[in-house]
Amino acid sequence: MQPSSEPFWFTTKSPSPSPQLTTNIKTDVLVIGGGMAGLSCAQRLIESGRQVTLIEQDFCGSGASGKSSGFITPDSEIELSSLIANYGPIKAKRLWEFVLSGVDLIRHNIEHYQIACDYQLQDSLFIANSHRGQQHVTEENKARQNLGYQSTLYSKDSLNSIIGSAKFFSAVRYPQTFGINSYLYCQGLKDILVDAGLKVFEQTPALKIVDHLVTTPNGQIEAQKIIICADRWLPNLIPALKPEIYHVQTFLGITSPLTPTELKSIFPTDHLMVWDTSLIYNYFRITGDNRLLIGGGDLVYTYAKNQSNNTTRAAARLTHYLKTKFPHLNLTLTHVWPGLLGVTPDLLPILGTLPQNPHITYLSCATGLPWAAALGHLTAELIIEPSQSSALTANKTTELSSAELLNDFSPTRKFPLNPRLASVISTPLTFATSHVITKYL
Ligand SMILES: Cc1cc2nc3c(=O)[nH]c(=O)nc-3n(C[C@H](O)[C@H](O)[C@H](O)COP(=O)(O)OP(=O)(O)OC[C@H]3O[C@@H](n4cnc5c(N)ncnc54)[C@H](O)[C@@H]3O)c2cc1C
Repeated sequence: MQPSSEPFWFTTKSPSPSPQLTTNIKTDVLVIGGGMAGLSCAQRLIESGRQVTLIEQDFCGSGASGKSSGFITPDSEIELSSLIANYGPIKAKRLWEFVLSGVDLIRHNIEHYQIACDYQLQDSLFIANSHRGQQHVTEENKARQNLGYQSTLYSKDSLNSIIGSAKFFSAVRYPQTFGINSYLYCQGLKDILVDAGLKVFEQTPALKIVDHLVTTPNGQIEAQKIIICADRWLPNLIPALKPEIYHVQTFLGITSPLTPTELKSIFPTDHLMVWDTSLIYNYFRITGDNRLLIGGGDLVYTYAKNQSNNTTRAAARLTHYLKTKFPHLNLTLTHVWPGLLGVTPDLLPILGTLPQNPHITYLSCATGLPWAAALGHLTAELIIEPSQSSALTANKTTELSSAELLNDFSPTRKFPLNPRLASVISTPLTFATSHVITKYL
């Protein structure tokens, strides 16, 4: 039977609807976009006592945030060793502490507000699926230890104590990570924020922004501050940012619940969140109801211009991966869905303010849920205390300087390849080459 192409998470609960905007309104702060970034930003602003309105073109969590595989780890696209290689240890540590603060924010919300989102405490396992990948794993372990983060290295021989596959070569494992149903998280956080006073309008796209006025199909919003958290759609509202922003595509698949024997044959001891060392990598974990969730890119589609709905090909690829790594299992995917996420050429996000319109702030290309949470929080802080804002760090003993982070995330920073090269060698090629340089060279 063909797997369904509906994101599995969306079948776990209908979205709780918010109204469409049908009149003209005024607000202190308008947040555009109801994904992890927009909701996290709105949360911090509401906590500070601001009057906040959020508009979402579809429903909260309908973008990358709700379709994601819900690995809450600091390594969404770029490992610590790559950050050190690209920027040196001081900046790498700053960026790592920043993304760890996003992990903490999500964990805090789930635990404090009891958000029912299939919260699964699982260690992360970065695993080599080739001889070349072993070097990457060793470097990652060294990088983590050098910067004072917990880390355990597994050789090929010791791997069989934690994973039931002979097809991997070595791995690095670390704690304090978890998996979630990210759609339920977004929906749950939205409900909490609405109760706390956030005004949310869904099915309400921002069509145009002129000065302080945002136009939607059936009403206008006058806002003192506007924060755009629209990820890959940002260039629709700020066309000047088009060269710096593209997307990558990944596919997810999920099985029916596995039997205890099948589970044990994959993870003999603890369930882990696993991803491999390939550039277009595969990743998998077990959900709370014992399904195997697997994701991965595809050479043809990762950098394609439009979303591919060729889930048949994706299903075949993901099933083949499972068959290769776990030949004793015969697993069928019930749902396979595509998802696009915004990326910059160096896989770090963009955060900035329009010089001619300083009341408009934008963020994009978080390339990871914890990054999006931390960015949303930082952006809110910049509005709450513009002169002395700082971001939380993971251990909360020190604070990161927002000035340094703004510099790190500036859209005018130097990228591995100038994004304007896209007009000569095409956008997909420019971004693919930049990502290879960022991750491997
Ligand atoms: C298939 C898939 C798997 C992933 N897996 C993981 C993972 O396991 N772990 C991880 O850390 N990251 C993962 N990611 C990446 C992560 O999901 C994203 O980087 C992150 O969710 C981005 O958050 P965001 O809020 O910036 O963007 P989004 O969630 O895309 O939110 C942007 C929102 O803005 C809305 N919007 C856009 N334009 C407008 C407009 N004009 N008016 C109103 N609303 C607008 C959109 O509808 C959307 O809801 C995955 C992504 C995908 C696609």
